[in-house]
Amino acid sequence: MNSSTATIRNFIAGELVEPAARRYFDNVDPAIGRPYGLVPDSGEADLEMAVQAAKQAFPAWRGTSAEQRAVMLSRLADLVEQRLEDFARAECIDTGKPLELCRNLDIPRSVANLRAFAAAAVAFSGQTFGKEKSQSYTLRQPIGVVATISPWNLPLLLFTWKMAPALAAGNCVIAKPSEVTPMTAYMLSQLLGEAGFPKGVVSVLHGKGPTIGAAITNHPDIAAISFTGGTATGTAIYTSAARHLKKVSLELGGKNPTLIFEDADWPAAVEGATTAAFANQGQVCLCGSRILVQASIYDKFKADFIRRTQQIRIGDPLDKATQHGALVSEPHTNKVLGAIELAKSEGGAILTGGTRRMLEGRCKEGYFVEPTVIENIAPSCRTNQEEIFGPVATLLPFETEEEALQIANGTQYGLAASIWTQSEPRARRVAAGLESGVVWVNCWNLRDLDTPFGGMKKSGVGREGKWRAMEFFTEEKTVSTPR
Ligand code: NAD
Repeated sequence: MNSSTATIRNFIAGELVEPAARRYFDNVDPAIGRPYGLVPDSGEADLEMAVQAAKQAFPAWRGTSAEQRAVMLSRLADLVEQRLEDFARAECIDTGKPLELCRNLDIPRSVANLRAFAAAAVAFSGQTFGKEKSQSYTLRQPIGVVATISPWNLPLLLFTWKMAPALAAGNCVIAKPSEVTPMTAYMLSQLLGEAGFPKGVVSVLHGKGPTIGAAITNHPDIAAISFTGGTATGTAIYTSAARHLKKVSLELGGKNPTLIFEDADWPAAVEGATTAAFANQGQVCLCGSRILVQASIYDKFKADFIRRTQQIRIGDPLDKATQHGALVSEPHTNKVLGAIELAKSEGGAILTGGTRRMLEGRCKEGYFVEPTVIENIAPSCRTNQEEIFGPVATLLPFETEEEALQIANGTQYGLAASIWTQSEPRARRVAAGLESGVVWVNCWNLRDLDTPFGGMKKSGVGREGKWRAMEFFTEEKTVSTPR
């Protein structure tokens, strides 16, 4: 395995190969704002080879036992864990996120994903039914050749979150990581053979969304697609998948509310809202970008939240002390800065941050944006309706629980929310009223991988997590016999 190889290759039929057209594009290190490698610009010819390899591998692969697949997934987890530092550095360089975050969250969680679905493979089973005249049971069988398409914000974490259940269920997988952050998926592809996965069972194709991504969603022999990314992309994938009646799972964008009630525990609520707003430079689909604060404590919260936000240490992602690294790319940085300008034009007052941060030395051309807090924007303004996906949070006052719910639910999204209150009845009432696939009470992003995960409204279709993912990646067959 080589984490420093600058030129990435596709992984097809058990081999690392060049893209058929020999075309590449730059891979940029966002902390320094310069290219450091090349990414295959794959197309239909590469996809065809991967699909043929997968179709050839499937009959034998579907015949493996769940225990055998679990052993391979566990071995892969061990191999990644043994190289945790290499993976963490590669993820840090590719994304611009702090190395400490990669070491302590992204890569360990990727290992945990592989282990969780190794366990799920063995425990997953059908159901039995008994009636007076019949005895029935269900078989959960693999679908065939499936695809996973994942984004740049949590590259290996989301790549493994999809690939692991697809393999655990006995499918052959064509996996496409984001073209912006392909390195750790490439590194993982170099370990698949050693982990024991036969040739063709997994292919990793690199390239751009509108070319190789669209080709995947249009390919008639790919029967299911698990996608995580933006709502606009998800809509395009849903539309093209419908033509082939492919099974689709969509995990999309969010504009998540954090609700701070006057009886919230202090300073836990301030700390929680800060982490929720700015974790991974605000580039987590679950980030709480709209902070709704009860009017009676609005000024106190505002003062403490600004103080806490200003303490976040911005710096070189490779420095151990850095808490806030670079945004993922120049176009994304421009999008986030554009959203801050839009907020100003909508009457927003910038309470802290609001500009690009120029660092000294190695990172002087990196894409750093200050954690930004804005108030004085109506809930219906674009700033409070559109996903920014960067370190930008707005403060919104509310008077009553009803008003809080109205504001919280007043967007097209419904991914995640967090509630801060010491009243259990209130927490239950508000949790029940939120239009949101995930609700955290007095915490944020506390994830149990066994629980269902996904969004309502324009935040997604379907659920992931242990059984939900295993269900998605299998066909259910009912077998009945007379009693
Ligand atoms: P994106 O939609 O631009 O890209 C995601 C993936 O889709 C990439 O691999 C890309 O190459 C591919 N793609 C792009 N166009 C395609 C097309 N036409 N056909 C097929 N594939 C295509 O998203 P992004 O910018 O990489 O990620 C940020 C978005 O992801 C945000 O909206 C964020 O909220 C969302 N996200 C959601 C979750 C969740 O669990 N709900 C988790 C992480 C990120």
